[in-house]
Amino acid sequence: MKYIGAHVSASGGVENAPLNAHELGAKAFALFTRNQRQWKSSPLTANSIRQFRENCETYGFKPAHILPHDSYLINLGHPEQEGLDKSREAFLDEMSRCEQLGLDRLNFHPGGSLAKIGDEECLLRIAESINITLDKTHGVIAVIENTAGQGSNLGFKFEQIGFIIDHVKDKSRVGVCIDTCHSFAAGYDLTSDEAFTATFRNFETAVGFQFLKGMHINDSKKGLGSRVDRHESLGKGTLGLEVFKRLMHDPRFDDIPLILETPDDTIWKEEIQLLYSL
Ligand SMILES: [Zn+2]
Ligand SMILES: [Zn+2]
Repeated sequence: MKYIGAHVSASGGVENAPLNAHELGAKAFALFTRNQRQWKSSPLTANSIRQFRENCETYGFKPAHILPHDSYLINLGHPEQEGLDKSREAFLDEMSRCEQLGLDRLNFHPGGSLAKIGDEECLLRIAESINITLDKTHGVIAVIENTAGQGSNLGFKFEQIGFIIDHVKDKSRVGVCIDTCHSFAAGYDLTSDEAFTATFRNFETAVGFQFLKGMHINDSKKGLGSRVDRHESLGKGTLGLEVFKRLMHDPRFDDIPLILETPDDTIWKEEIQLLYSL
């Protein structure tokens, strides 16, 4: 079965996210558990936590179908100590919030070298950041998102994600989220049956489907290998609808959150219906 949803608003409190997802007819959702543009956030209140859990229960959202996303400021591979410390502190807070909310996974962008250290060193820093955080938390899986490879951001090659996972000690608490737009922008074609098969064969070899804990379902404004991260509404971009039809018919994408991050949130309800109709 497919669990489709969108990255919904949590404004007014995290407890509103499951309500917003329910209104869209979603079976899954993503959210920010704190302000994604600030380093510091006030702790979740006991009331917020209780209501979040109650609303998820009421509307039938299980932790395995909820994919919280961390702050964009965090860079777990930061080349400088100060930035690295700040990122690790914020990431620990993000993971702890998921734990408080009873969630089992946190999606994050791996990070980048800012062109100040080598790629391998940066990837090792990211793995070390994950190890440090897993030691201090319980039950939450760190889910690495593949990137479009803009600037010095790493994780655009499946091999880079595989390398990070290789260096994470507790393999039961590390996972991957594949973003269709990022994949295409990074040079992984999905637009023909052959290309789709080859891309996911490549993923199976470099990472492995046992680590797949979620997907971001986005069309792309830019072309194959552009290394530019610009999402587009489904069927309106360079990927086209056939890609999403292939995904919907492929059992390897069952039982994980499939999350829309498409730009026009007024048509999310239709996009969710469209995906189910494919
Ligand atoms: Zn994404
Ligand atoms: Zn993106």
